[in-house]
Amino acid sequence: MFVNSTRNVMRSSFLQRCKSTLVVAEHNNEALNPLTLNTISAAKKIGGDVTVLVAGTKCGPASEALSKVEGVTKVLVAENAAFKGFTAESLTPLVLAAQSQFKFTHILAGASAFGKNVLPRVAAKLDVSPISEIIDVKSEDTFVRTIYAGNAILTLKSKDPVKVITVRGTNFPPAATSGGSGAVEQAPAGEYASSLSEFVSQELTKSDRPELTGAKVIISGGRGLKSGDNFKLLYDLADKFGAAVGASRAAVDAGFVPNDLQIGQTGKIVAPELYIAVGISGAIQHLAGMKDSKTIVAINKDPEAPIFQVADIGIVADLFKAVPELTGKL
Ligand SMILES: Cc1cc2nc3c(=O)[nH]c(=O)nc-3n(C[C@H](O)[C@H](O)[C@H](O)COP(=O)(O)OP(=O)(O)OC[C@H]3O[C@@H](n4cnc5c(N)ncnc54)[C@H](O)[C@@H]3O)c2cc1C
Repeated sequence: MFVNSTRNVMRSSFLQRCKSTLVVAEHNNEALNPLTLNTISAAKKIGGDVTVLVAGTKCGPASEALSKVEGVTKVLVAENAAFKGFTAESLTPLVLAAQSQFKFTHILAGASAFGKNVLPRVAAKLDVSPISEIIDVKSEDTFVRTIYAGNAILTLKSKDPVKVITVRGTNFPPAATSGGSGAVEQAPAGEYASSLSEFVSQELTKSDRPELTGAKVIISGGRGLKSGDNFKLLYDLADKFGAAVGASRAAVDAGFVPNDLQIGQTGKIVAPELYIAVGISGAIQHLAGMKDSKTIVAINKDPEAPIFQVADIGIVADLFKAVPELTGKL
């Protein structure tokens, strides 16, 4: 009995010492994406050292910011023209090179378009199962995620030697951006240019509004808005709150707004302090993206709309009257 428990204590302190996580940072060569800070918090919850990998054509701003983040032990920097456009085909061999040098037990990235693109490829190359969009860490091998569009919660235990995980940012607080003193080092050098894919160009939606996934207040519009021009009603209301504007898939499909505004199972997952759903019925795939918001307000003319089942405050009204009235009163 005594021998067994001593062995267990030794084993757990050995594991504690051996745990080490690589966080693949997301940035745009100019600034760090805040999702990386939430991902670092998930890494800290796993325990052990946290190393962050910054790859891109210009890594200075992100690596400087990351070296100051609390809990970051080391920042590996890979500045190379090969990483233009952050393609999965160029980044994967870099992550694998870092993995073979440092033997991390966990490799994490935020569950954004970037993380979802790169990490499953890394997992396949390591011959392990990727673990998608965790919402909690129970222990070093046990994680929680949602399934069935957020309608069931699954706790899974991974037996893989390396856990490759994407992290749902809204479920972890951002790590403090000061107080850390991570050592900045060069990532393993190599020939990372891919012959398989090449970044050609991108079209970004320009907006002065806060980024959707980090916004404290979000006003979302659905098919009930009837046209793209009518979204002006929501922009006027959003200006009063300094809010971001989102949309349902029906609004995106109808061409009212670009698809990077889509919230839901196949769009962005958000959890702001206040979510105002306007002319949105509340389909299960939409709720999957917003039902963890602190306070949900729904404006809909149909009292039977499913959105009212998750709303804290429901206004049964014609949005074309209710929204301007609300804007006027604020
Ligand atoms: C695989 C899959 C993935 C999907 N992923 C997503 C996703 O990520 N995000 C997403 O949003 N959807 C997603 N969908 C689509 C989803 O099923 C719904 O079709 C969509 O969310 C409906 O959008 P909506 O609520 O804007 O439109 P509708 O369901 O048409 O609802 C419009 C609402 O507006 C109200 N309304 C109309 N006029 C007014 C008015 N004048 N004043 C007040 N209220 C008014 C109506 O009462 C109605 O409730 C997905 C579907 C599938 C199959």
